[in-house]
Amino acid sequence: MKNLTTMCTGCGAPLNYSETEEILACEYCGCQFQNPHYDENAPVIRTRKSDDADAVLSAVCGASTITAKDCSFGTPITGGKRLARARKYFNIPDEDNVYMIYDSTLLGSCKEGFALCSSGFYCCIDGTGYLSWDDFIQANIPLEGSVNVNEYTFITATDTGKLLSAFLQKLQNRL
Ligand SMILES: [Zn+2]
Repeated sequence: MKNLTTMCTGCGAPLNYSETEEILACEYCGCQFQNPHYDENAPVIRTRKSDDADAVLSAVCGASTITAKDCSFGTPITGGKRLARARKYFNIPDEDNVYMIYDSTLLGSCKEGFALCSSGFYCCIDGTGYLSWDDFIQANIPLEGSVNVNEYTFITATDTGKLLSAFLQKLQNRL
């Protein structure tokens, strides 16, 4: 798998991608376009580049420009009701730092959604779920108007879904 770099055709932001991604999305403006180097036969084999997930999460979440109010970002997040609820409902261990929370509930209860934490991806959607970072980087995350991470589907506003999916793909490439 080759890692390639190009510029967003919409806003000029740099994009890192591989030939295994058919559609590219810009995490800054949400613009989508066809990958000129897409190769449907290229194997999707991602290996972890970093031993330090906390450092990658802090960098990627700290640089996020996503402002949707059902998302929280931090380097890490240090307090608040959403953090307490995410720990409770997503079953996040106390010793894990939490860098990003998405609350997919309409009323902000944070009983469903996902969080990016020191030891992996934690979520609750019809029960709690978890992916280690080694599993997360291999996960299928299509660019859609909702967020899909393997079998977990989180309903979002269409714009938010595309931005968050692009954000999670970027995290896959950075970890
Ligand atoms: Zn852009």
